[in-house]
Amino acid sequence: PIEFQQTVQFPRYVRVNTLKTSTKKVIEEFCAEGWKFDECLWSTNLHHEESEQTRSLSSKTFCLDSNVGDLLVFPHGTDLHDSKLVKNGHIILQDKSSCFPSIILDPQSDWHILDACAAPGNKTSHLAALLRQRNPDHPSLKGRIDAFDIDKKRSVLLRSRMNSLGSSDIVNVHRENFLHISPNDPKFVNAQAILIDPSCSGSGLLYHRLDHLIHFKLKSDESLIEEIRNFARFQCSLICHAMKWPNVQKIVYSTCSESQIENEEVVSKILSSHHDFELANALPNWERRGLPIFDGADHVVRVSARNDLAQGFFVACFVRKSEASLRND
Ligand code: SAM
Repeated sequence: PIEFQQTVQFPRYVRVNTLKTSTKKVIEEFCAEGWKFDECLWSTNLHHEESEQTRSLSSKTFCLDSNVGDLLVFPHGTDLHDSKLVKNGHIILQDKSSCFPSIILDPQSDWHILDACAAPGNKTSHLAALLRQRNPDHPSLKGRIDAFDIDKKRSVLLRSRMNSLGSSDIVNVHRENFLHISPNDPKFVNAQAILIDPSCSGSGLLYHRLDHLIHFKLKSDESLIEEIRNFARFQCSLICHAMKWPNVQKIVYSTCSESQIENEEVVSKILSSHHDFELANALPNWERRGLPIFDGADHVVRVSARNDLAQGFFVACFVRKSEASLRND
């Protein structure tokens, strides 16, 4: 059963867009507006069993996150939608969990990356920023990103956001169904990494978004489970498609769902049918791991909206097995 607890007080997470500014400058700008910067790092790790109070920030105080670089944490209820820094693209209102996939993908400076389901582009612009950080002194970066989205309006939004966030020289936007892109298309064949952040049931957003709750509550258990199974079939087809890329070394799969069906069951099914891939141990410092329904579930990352003060989330990182480990299989 899906419950809703209004008592969870999420902080406001803010990612600094390092393509346009620096974390130091943004901290200074907030301080100039009367905010106090706390040097302590924000942690929601499980072993810190503090009460909610000690895990919340006092008013007008902000700090840096312990898991995600360039992520600032503000008190619950801070409204920055009208902030100048949001409008000029220097900061992005992005939840902590949603920063995990790009960090886990860990783009190398000369990588060609495909973002299969990219709009509105929070993870795409994060990947672009990480790519740039890998190669700060070279204006002509070798690495690049091709970002796909099937939806017309959303791909228009994606393109305009890549422009306003300073990512357009790194990211090419395509309004395309990723499933229709050929793995041997010369434009994309050399991709080393693929991010798959597909449409999902969105159950991890329940605590944030009441409309999802209403949507869920109106459905019977059977029709809800059938809907989630349909998402899982689609998610599997995207990962299987990505695994056909001849040079791909890393595939990061994420959902903002807390459903086992769309997460561990998808991963386990993929592993059982793709013996040339295995799981990397994603974000080892993050304590909440996958539900133990298959060997290696401790390699995947879960975020619980109820317990981790961030949006409910799931990330798995598939890597191609080396020739040696294939021989030993
Ligand atoms: N990664 C995005 C971000 O961080 O801002 C959020 C992606 S959202 C969860 C899923 C997106 O996948 C939607 O914009 C949807 O239009 C797109 N999508 C769904 N099916 C697709 C497909 N077959 N090919 C490409 N995009 C698809």
